[in-house]
Amino acid sequence: MEKQKVCWKITTRCNQNCKYCFGFSNIGELDYGKDEKVLEHLANNGVTDITWTGGEAVLYPKLNELIKKAKEKGINCKLVTNGIYLSQNDNEYTKDIIDNLDYLNLSIDSISNEINLELGKENNHFELIKQLLEKTKNKSVKIAINTVVSKKNIDKLDELGEFLNNYKIDNWKFLKFMPVREKALLNKDEFEVTEKQLEEKVESLRKFENIGTVRYKKQKDFEKSIVILPNADIIITENGVDRCLGNALEQEKFNLKESCKIDKIKILIAYDDEKTTEDIVNVINELDYAEVVGICTNEQDALNEIIKLNPAMVFAKYESNGLNGLNVAKKVGETLGKWKMPVFNILDSKNEITENDIDKLTNISKAIGTKFNSLLIKPYNEKIVNVIKTYKEDRY
Ligand code: SF4
Repeated sequence: MEKQKVCWKITTRCNQNCKYCFGFSNIGELDYGKDEKVLEHLANNGVTDITWTGGEAVLYPKLNELIKKAKEKGINCKLVTNGIYLSQNDNEYTKDIIDNLDYLNLSIDSISNEINLELGKENNHFELIKQLLEKTKNKSVKIAINTVVSKKNIDKLDELGEFLNNYKIDNWKFLKFMPVREKALLNKDEFEVTEKQLEEKVESLRKFENIGTVRYKKQKDFEKSIVILPNADIIITENGVDRCLGNALEQEKFNLKESCKIDKIKILIAYDDEKTTEDIVNVINELDYAEVVGICTNEQDALNEIIKLNPAMVFAKYESNGLNGLNVAKKVGETLGKWKMPVFNILDSKNEITENDIDKLTNISKAIGTKFNSLLIKPYNEKIVNVIKTYKEDRY
C-alpha cells in the first residue's frame, strides 16, 4: 500500500522557547471529541502515517488516547518532542504514549548547556534528553534524533554525535534553520547557515556505528509535508507561503495526493466579450505563476468547465443577458459545495460600485462563503494582477 503521511500539529502550546521556532503559534486546539473525528477522517482518506507534533504535542491532554486510536486504525505513529515533559514525568500518561509509538523523535541540538540556552532551550535540556534516552533504552519504540543546524551549533555537532553513539539511534536527521515565519524570521541573521554548509557537515557525521542513517532535510523537503493544524486546517507550504487545502474536521473527504501537487494557479475566464477576454488573457500570460485553462462565453459552459478543469480561480463577467458571473458562482457553489469551488472574481465594465451592487455581492457572499473574492471595475489590468498575486501569497 502506498504511504500517505501527515504531520499533525495537535497543539501550538509549548514548554520551550526556541529562537529558531517557525511553528504556528496561538491557534486554538479542538476538544478531544472533535479530534477523534479528525482522526477518523484522516484514516478514511488513506492516511497511513502520522507524525504528532506541535508546539509540544504531549501538552495536549489526551494525546495518549489519540495515539492508541490511531494505532487501532493501523496508522504508524511518530512523536516529535522536545522531551522535557516525558523526561520529567513518569506516569500512566507518559508510559502510554511511549509504549504505543513506533518512533520517538527527540529534538536535541547540542550537548552544551550554554549553546542550548543561546538557542532559547530549557536549562539542562541536554540532561533531560539523556535521562529520557536512558528511560527508553529497553523499550520497543525506535529512537530518532532531530537536530536544527544553525550558526550556533554547526561546529559542535561531532560531540553531539559522540554522545548519541552511546545509544541505539535509528536515524539522526538534520533540519536546516528555516527563517520562514514567527521567531525564526526575526532571528535570521543570527542563525542562518547555507544548504552547502549543512550538506558538508552532514557528510562528515556519517561515521557513528550506532547511528543508523544520518540525513538532512532541506526547506523544499519540508514543503512536501502535509500539515494538519490544531484547528484541523490542512496546510502545505509552497516557496515559503502556506496554502490551506481544506479542513479535516469539516470535510469528510479530501484528496491529499492531488492536493500536494504544486502547480501554476489555474484560471478560468467566463466572459462573452472577445476584446475584454483577450485583454484578461494577456495580463495573466505575463505571470509565470498563473495560467488560463479555459475560456467560456455562456453560463452552462462555464459551469461544465469548472467542474471538469477544477480551476483555482475564475474571472467572470458581472451581469449581461447571456452571462451573469454571480449566477455562475451560485450554481458552482450549489453543485460543488464551498470547499471545492474556485475563488470567484467578478468583473464589471462600470467604473463605480453602487449600493445595489453591494447588496447583490453580500447575498452571493452569504451563499458561497469566502470563495467570493472581489468585484473588479474598469480599468482591470492592474487589479487582476493584484488579485492573483494576493491569492498566491495567501492561498485559500
Ligand atoms: S521549536 Fe519546538 S520545542 Fe522549540 S519552541 Fe518551537 S515548538 Fe517548542
